[in-house]
Amino acid sequence: MKKPAALPELDHPTLDAASIRRSLHNRLVYTIGKDPITATDRDWFHAAAAVVRERMIERWMETMRSYYVEDRKRVYYLSMEFLMGRAMTNSMLNICAEKEFRDALAALGEMGLKPESISEIEPDAALGNGGLGRLAACFLDSMATMGIAGYGYGIRYEYGMFHQGIENGQQVEHPDNWLRYGNPWEFPRPEVLYQVKFHGRVVDFADEHGHKHYQWVDSDDVMAMAYDYPIPGYDTGTVNNMRLWAAKASRDFDLKYFNEGNYIAAVEDKNDSENLSKVLYPDDTTEMGRELRLKQQYFFVSASLQDMLYRFAKSGTPLDNLPDKVAVQLNDTHPSIAVPELMRILIDEHRMEWTRAWGIVTRTFAYTNHTLMPEALETWPVPLFERVLPRHLQIIYEINQRFLRDVMHHYPGDPALWQRMSLIDEAKGKRIRMAHLAIVGSHKVNGVAAIHTRLMKETIFADFHRLWPDKIVNMTNGVTPRRWLNQANPALSKLITTHLGKGWLKDLDQLRQLTPLTVDAGFCEAFVRVKRDNKARLAAMIQQRLAIRVDPASLFDVQIKRIHEYKRQLLNVLHVITLYNRLRAGGDAPPRTVIFGGKAAPGYRLAKLIIRLINDVADIVNNDPLVRDRLKVVFIPNYDVSNAEIIIPAADLSEQISTAGTEASGTGNMKLALNGALTIGTLDGANVEIRNEVGPENIFIFGLTADEVAQQYAAGYSPWVHYDNNAELRQTLDMLRDGFFSPEDRDRYKPVFDQLTYHGDHYLLLADYASYIACQEQVGQLYRDPAAWTRKAILNVAGMGQFSSDRTIGQYAKTIWNVEPVARTAG
Ligand SMILES: *Cc1c(COP(=O)(O)O)cnc(C)c1O
Repeated sequence: MKKPAALPELDHPTLDAASIRRSLHNRLVYTIGKDPITATDRDWFHAAAAVVRERMIERWMETMRSYYVEDRKRVYYLSMEFLMGRAMTNSMLNICAEKEFRDALAALGEMGLKPESISEIEPDAALGNGGLGRLAACFLDSMATMGIAGYGYGIRYEYGMFHQGIENGQQVEHPDNWLRYGNPWEFPRPEVLYQVKFHGRVVDFADEHGHKHYQWVDSDDVMAMAYDYPIPGYDTGTVNNMRLWAAKASRDFDLKYFNEGNYIAAVEDKNDSENLSKVLYPDDTTEMGRELRLKQQYFFVSASLQDMLYRFAKSGTPLDNLPDKVAVQLNDTHPSIAVPELMRILIDEHRMEWTRAWGIVTRTFAYTNHTLMPEALETWPVPLFERVLPRHLQIIYEINQRFLRDVMHHYPGDPALWQRMSLIDEAKGKRIRMAHLAIVGSHKVNGVAAIHTRLMKETIFADFHRLWPDKIVNMTNGVTPRRWLNQANPALSKLITTHLGKGWLKDLDQLRQLTPLTVDAGFCEAFVRVKRDNKARLAAMIQQRLAIRVDPASLFDVQIKRIHEYKRQLLNVLHVITLYNRLRAGGDAPPRTVIFGGKAAPGYRLAKLIIRLINDVADIVNNDPLVRDRLKVVFIPNYDVSNAEIIIPAADLSEQISTAGTEASGTGNMKLALNGALTIGTLDGANVEIRNEVGPENIFIFGLTADEVAQQYAAGYSPWVHYDNNAELRQTLDMLRDGFFSPEDRDRYKPVFDQLTYHGDHYLLLADYASYIACQEQVGQLYRDPAAWTRKAILNVAGMGQFSSDRTIGQYAKTIWNVEPVARTAG
């Protein structure tokens, strides 16, 4: 690489407010092509985005060049989802010029513009469902901040996660046309184009030495085109890359029809193949095996592997050393087709012998498991695979045969075990178990919280753990404190920095130094003021969007996450109804505002009914003169990253109440505690570790443990015992059954009642009800002692150092990827 001498010097745009102001005007005129007189807020947003991004580009290029020159080991994070949210404020903050940008934008106020409304023009990049996709986004931030050569690879969905509207209390889905006005953060790379094959058939032939080889022929081809997105680290020269693939019709494919003179058919075909990257599947955790979904998976895996091998080949390193230069992390089983795909490339295209190829593959890949629930483990029907990816099916069979040979050698005479471990589930008409494929094809498999990893070893993957006792490791999830504290909660961030300096932003363990400040009256007062202001901001948003008046002095009790039976929003509703009944009966409790947010999968009927129930309960409770102002219920529509950034800093109480043993980790729990909310939760996922860090006296734990849950199931759990023996619970459930909250349609919530009774209450809500209600009473008690509450809230913030995604990424780097962070100075 040499620098062409003839080029004139670059502008090197700087970060001072004057330069930024000048660039804003220049970009508006020369890039957006608008006269300031007629420019809209959106024009100014696009101008501002251009100004921000041109201040990241040189660092981005330098970072990429340094990885090449230093021949750094690359980490490829393969994920079907990246839930990035907005990029504008995050980019300004990460390049440490937020104040300068704010000042420059404020100067536009003289033209009648509001800087806040400019940043709110930006649509969320909502290329994910929830926790899994947001984890990928936090990891990219941490890898860039720490100086790890990490690349995100995924799909550039034209339509991301749907927008949730609420009409008559019910969820309605609106398409998320996020690219409608163009995306200022993406760089299309039309020359970075790879062919991806589907369908066709496999032929074999012998080479000149008589060795048998396989070739995949007569395929239908789609092209994958790259779009790049700069990922700036915080206060560092490192700007990493996220590369998302968009499907483009292959030219060859069109020609076939053009030659027959069938122009319309050719265009239809083009549309068909471009449908591949059209839409994100909005199903969280439960997998529905649709052909398009399998094609999306192979599409982005194939393009990503071609791209990384192309980059690898440039270094001239022999393929056998691939694992020294490349680590690939599989975010859930969604990209696990990468295992047979890399085998196919090495064997069919590089003519490598099987065992040599297998050694390379297994040393390259690692797999992150995200769920223990059997119905959420991905499987694909063999006939579908055979049609869409015929060569991969052959390779999977070969992997399985060799693997089972090994298993039989270790455990002779145990055919039940062989069947359990096989990559093929023979029980339900032959399906491929993608988790088994990922485990066998990886050198490390990780869970995402200590309890989750323990249960992986003891339950779903116990057989694999016995065979390979060193393969399963724990990597407790984390969140980036840059977005989830510094950006979302600037007032708290500033308060912390005033007392600790700004080192905590890259070393979150420093938050421990807040502990002695719990006895500093000035600090406590300031902390309370920050929370009160954040609550007032949320109250204003609720008033404006929903016309519900909530009291910022009331206890803000928050449950925000995807709507799922296992997450037990219904248990929260049972508490709300119980509290309502108690207040109506003359009971006393501190004023509470119960806030819900979350999307239901469009086909998940019970989840949608739960949303409707929350809204119906809200209608009755909020308008009952007997309880007015002591209990309010609010469902905030369209929970996404940008709404999370407003809700989380305003929360007093964080509801993390999944049935123990079902939530792999959770990350919402971490974001809320980091912002000074106290947790009410079960001993599930990362709640267990949060309790260890903040101390058991500073968290509200209730309910059965995971082991007790397992015992309940084993003993034949019946919800009726609880129904029969707890009058308050019975009253609550009967109100649902009898239509108290749906007087115009009395049977509306019978399915909810039935689920919790006749159908067996699979998630044990009734078993945990009494313990939950009692725990909520203690929460109410504590809220009446503001000083004691505040002390605990501060100790929660102080204890969150462990839950920085920097800690998580450091662990992956050391024990899975074998890479070292490299610090780069900014500027
Ligand atoms: C953090 C986050 C989640 C995950 O929340 P959990 O409570 O861990 O399920 C989901 N959606 C969004 C928008 C988030 O920011």
